[in-house]
Amino acid sequence: MLEGCIFCKIGAGKISSHKMYDDGEVFAFKDVSPQAPVHVIIIPKKHISGLDVVTDEDGRILGHIQVVAAKIAKQFFEMKEGFRLVSNCGVDGGQTVFHIHYHLLGGRSFGWPPG
Ligand code: AMP
Ligand code: ZN
Repeated sequence: MLEGCIFCKIGAGKISSHKMYDDGEVFAFKDVSPQAPVHVIIIPKKHISGLDVVTDEDGRILGHIQVVAAKIAKQFFEMKEGFRLVSNCGVDGGQTVFHIHYHLLGGRSFGWPPG
């Protein structure tokens, strides 16, 4: 837990959120500013600042996050029309919260390439 990190606090239940999933290691909650009908943030409880600093030892939990994302997607819209899973990294990636997280977006279609 990193002092002052909002997502560490959400994962620890010290800041309230609309919880969607919690297995002790991975935590998911609704984005406070949704960009799609389904917009869920998925984080490891372990503080990692972003994808640019991950190590081999983080591989298992990052893989687990993808499986959790697929489960949440299925629960919400049965994966009938698909979804998008995104992790913004650094300034160019548009990251604003420096605790690694994945955006699970669905319920509408998305453009490509991103802006
Ligand atoms: P990013 O810009 O990729 O770093 O994504 C950060 C996301 O966290 C944004 O979509 C915010 O709306 C969301 N966010 C920030 N604070 C909170 C919060 N307290 N509860 C839920 N979502 C949050
Ligand atoms: Zn953190």
